[in-house]
Order: sequence, then structure tokens, then C-alpha cells
Amino acid sequence: NTLNFSAGPGALPATVLAQTRDAIVALPETGVSVLGMSHRSEWFLDILDEAERNIRSLLGLSDRYAVTFLQGGSSLLFATVPMNFATPAFAPPEYVISGYWSARASAEAGRVGEHRIAWDGQRTGFRELPALGQLDVDPRTAYLHYVSNETIEGLQFAAPVAAPGVPLIADMSSDFLSKPLAAERFSMIYAHAQKNLGPAGVTVALIDRELLERIPGGMPHILDFRTQVAHGSNYNTPPVFAIYVLTLITRWLRDDIGGLAAMQRINEAKAARLYDVLEEMGDVVTIHAKQPWRSRMNVAFTFGDARLDRAFLDAAKARGMSGLEGHRSLRGLRASLYNAVTPDAVEALCETLTEFALQHA
Ligand code: PLP
Repeated sequence: NTLNFSAGPGALPATVLAQTRDAIVALPETGVSVLGMSHRSEWFLDILDEAERNIRSLLGLSDRYAVTFLQGGSSLLFATVPMNFATPAFAPPEYVISGYWSARASAEAGRVGEHRIAWDGQRTGFRELPALGQLDVDPRTAYLHYVSNETIEGLQFAAPVAAPGVPLIADMSSDFLSKPLAAERFSMIYAHAQKNLGPAGVTVALIDRELLERIPGGMPHILDFRTQVAHGSNYNTPPVFAIYVLTLITRWLRDDIGGLAAMQRINEAKAARLYDVLEEMGDVVTIHAKQPWRSRMNVAFTFGDARLDRAFLDAAKARGMSGLEGHRSLRGLRASLYNAVTPDAVEALCETLTEFALQHA
């Protein structure tokens, strides 16, 4: 097995991978492959229930929130969030642009209707985030949207953005379930799978039920958040496989890891180790994100020269590592340290980095 530092399909925990492999052959509960299970079967209804229960209990989330499983990825939510919530009864929604993904979310909102930019980090090259008190938000806005972890630039908000009285909506695609979360500070949280939640195909959304009441009538059913909430995320055929693996991951987080506080300690230690090693290299490497906004999930850096970055990728590949290329929009290198990346894998990466720096400095 390669040590997978990919930012897209995060590695699966080894135990979950083994359970998934077995389930593809035959589920222990039904004797049928998970790939052949009906979305109307009792077995799958139980899985949907359990996925929701486990997410609620990991986050300590009350019944004030609906937990729903959507499709179309976070990109569809970039469109459906304003379609559902940017209603004329409120001032236009406001968007924090702190990197590639929040810029995409904001651009999409602009196609749906009027919106306002609450903060834009483009001028400074997306190396920092707004200070928490720096946002000037209209208190009558429909909502304030931001991305909690910018996957490409490696920037992460340490705490929820403060905007008292304003509904807060966050795309947490790349740090959901990586640490405890004051979920009830938000009106809506969404996160696609393919990072900490398993294979792509499902997007988890937590929505304050009060916000659901603001949705205008006449929306196409499939785009109206109330539809999947009312149908227990089973209005049309859901991605059974992705939701099954997500459920296995929530069990792993609870039983093997011991919950989100324990997961956070592991993730903090992994990130601290890698940043320390990169810092020790001094001028040899540049870490894209400035302190104190450095992400615990995605570490974007470069040796400052495309040939050197390429040479490092080759050295890492020779040591059995993959997924370290930077995103095509930023280039350079990126190590993603999602939940399933083990401390040993990070240690191996650190050793390879140190050796490489000694040889090439
Ligand atoms: N938001 C963030 C923070 C992401 O990292 C990504 C993809 O990596 C997306 C949104 C886009 O998600 P999707 O491909 O599910 O549309």
C-alpha cells in the first residue's frame, strides 16, 4: 500500500478499508454485496439511521438540526445554498473569499442572484484569513458563507467566524469530523465525502430547521433542501455505497479513535510535526499559508523551483508515497493529513523531506 497524501480521495483507515473490501464481496449482515443492496432495503434504512445517529453523537448535535445526505458534491451546494436561502426578505448573502473553493462558491452565488463580498484575500495571494473581528457584515443579510478549510492553499479557520445574529453557513468539505466542532454556532454546515468521510458521492448537510422554513416555494423538488429532509435522504436513489463507507468511518471515529477530541489530538500532532520539519529547513522551502492560519489538514509548500518540486515527488514516490502534487491552480507540493493518514506516514514524509533538503540545499 502506498502512503497516500492525496487531497482528493483521502486515504481510508486500514480497518475501514478491510471492512469495505469484505462488504463488496458480501455484507456480513445480508450475505449480499453492498454494491447490490437496494436503497429501499431494511438494511440500508438502518444504515441511514445509524449514519445520522453517529454524526449527531460525534458532534453532540441536537434535533434543532436536520442531518441530510445529498448528491452533486459541494459544487451543487454552491448553487443550491443561495437558491434556498438568498430570499428577497433579507439583504443579499455575504461571502468570505479566502481561497480557490470559497471563490468558486461566491462566483456561483453571483450566478443565482445578488451577493456581497464580506472579505477578499485574493490581493494578498490567499496566504491569510480575516481576523475574526474584521468582517463588516450587514446584520440583515440572508447568511454569511465561508469555507472552514481552504483545501488548496492550506488555510484553516481555528474557530467559527463570529457574526452575531447572522446565519452562518460553512463549507467544511476538507475538515469536517477532523476535530470537535461548535456545530450549533452555524445555521448550515456541509461537507462532501472524498476526504475525511470516505469515497465521493455523498455530501453531508446539517441544517437548522428554522432556516428550512425560509425556503421559497416553487423550487424544483430535487434542489429544495426540504425534499431530502422530508424523505430521510431517500427521495431518489442515494449513493448506498458511499453512505455505507461513511457509516463505517463514523464507527471507526467513535470506537477506534475515541471521538473527535482524540482525533483532533492526533491531527494536531501530525500537522505540528510536518510544519516543524518544514520550518527547520529555513529558506529551502516556502509554506504557502502564513501563521496562524495554517491548516491541520492540507500543507501547501514548495521548494521554489518546479524542477526541485518534481525531484521531491520522485524521491517520495521511490519511498512509496503518493498524492503530494500541489493543486493545478497553485502548483508546488501539498501534503494532505486527513484523519486516515497515520502518524507513521507523516514521520516517513518528514524523513524524506529532511533527506531531500540535505541533498539539494
Ligand atoms: N469545497 C472544498 C473545501 C473542497 O475542497 C472541494 C473539493 O475538493 C469542493 C468544495 C468541491 O467539492 P465537489 O467536488 O464535491 O463539488
